[in-house]
Order: sequence, then structure tokens, then C-alpha cells
Amino acid sequence: MNTISINGEVFSLMFSEAEILRRIKEIARTISTDYLGKTPIFVGVLNGAVIFLSDLVREVTVDLEVDFLKLSSYGDEKFSSGSVKLLKDFDVHIGGRDILIVEDIVDTGLSIEFIKKLVFPRNPASVKVVTLLHKKKSQQNQNIEYVGFEIPDEFVIGYGLDHSQKYRNLRGIYRLTK
Ligand code: 5GP
Repeated sequence: MNTISINGEVFSLMFSEAEILRRIKEIARTISTDYLGKTPIFVGVLNGAVIFLSDLVREVTVDLEVDFLKLSSYGDEKFSSGSVKLLKDFDVHIGGRDILIVEDIVDTGLSIEFIKKLVFPRNPASVKVVTLLHKKKSQQNQNIEYVGFEIPDEFVIGYGLDHSQKYRNLRGIYRLTK
């Protein structure tokens, strides 16, 4: 399936399931080496990161824990509203722990900035970020340790990423074609 039509908009395949899983294996190998001897907490950012997180953690070979944060989302919009709110906090204490924030996509970087401000005052041992996709914007210099794919500034769906809450279950990642 190389293109999908949704209400007159056409989305074309950007990364196949096989390409995504291949890249996840590579990232997981690096993470497993970097966290050798540690038990990091993988913190999935709901809802989009759920599918990436579940594939990623199964490729990681060190002991790990999983927790989730939920932030207010874009709603039905394709662009960031510019404001972020916390809808669900950690279930565990993160003081002294190694925190790996797991994102589906980093766009403006606002969500990551918000999470870091939430996390740092709680004195974790370390905080790193892994994102499957990163929208490259020249003016920004975000500190992201692990990136699956750099992509242009385009709206994408599938593999956890939604279009008005739907299409998260597409196996590949699709871009909106102009
Ligand atoms: P940021 O705060 O970095 O601007 O945006 C992060 C969040 O915005 C992601 O976790 C994701 O939920 C949403 N987002 C950003 N770009 C896209 C996109 O192209 N497609 C979809 N479906 N969601 C996106």
C-alpha cells in the first residue's frame, strides 16, 4: 500500500514497516550498550509513542522499566497549538533513576522542553530522549540523543501517529502529499 486517500487528502509511504523495524533494531543496540549495568525507565509519551515504545523495548537487552506521560495533544489540528499541558504524570518516583523519554516525533520541541522542565527538579540520575522521527528545522538546536529518522517539515501519520485520532494502526509511516 503506497498511497492512502483520506477525505480527499493523499498520503504516500515514507517508511515501510521493514525499514522502521530495521532502524529500531539499530537504535536498540546503541541504547543497550549505553545503559549497560543500569535499569533505565523508558517513559512513553502517550498516545503516539505507544507502538514505537513497544517495538523498541523488546529489542533492548538491558533490564528496564516502562512508564507513561500524557500531554495535551494537537487535537484534530495538523500544527502545534504552542501550549502543552500535563494530562498524566509518572506513576513511579524518578529521583536517582535513569530516564529515557520515548517520543514518536519531535516537531517544535515544545513537548520535550515541557517534559524536561517537569523531570529535572525531581533529580533523576540522567535524562535522555529517543524519538523515532525528528522534523529538521534549521533554527532549532534540540538536544536529542537518539533519532530514528530525520524528516522534512511534513505532516505524517501511521505507526502510532494519528490523523484526528485515527490511522495510528498503519504499519508504515505516510506523508501528506501536496
Ligand atoms: P512538538 O511538541 O515537538 O511540536 O510535537 C510533539 C507532538 O506533536 C508529537 O508527540 C505528536 O503527537 C505531534 N506531532 C508533531 N508532528 C506531527 C505529525 O507530523 N503528525 C502527527 N500525527 N503528529 C505530530
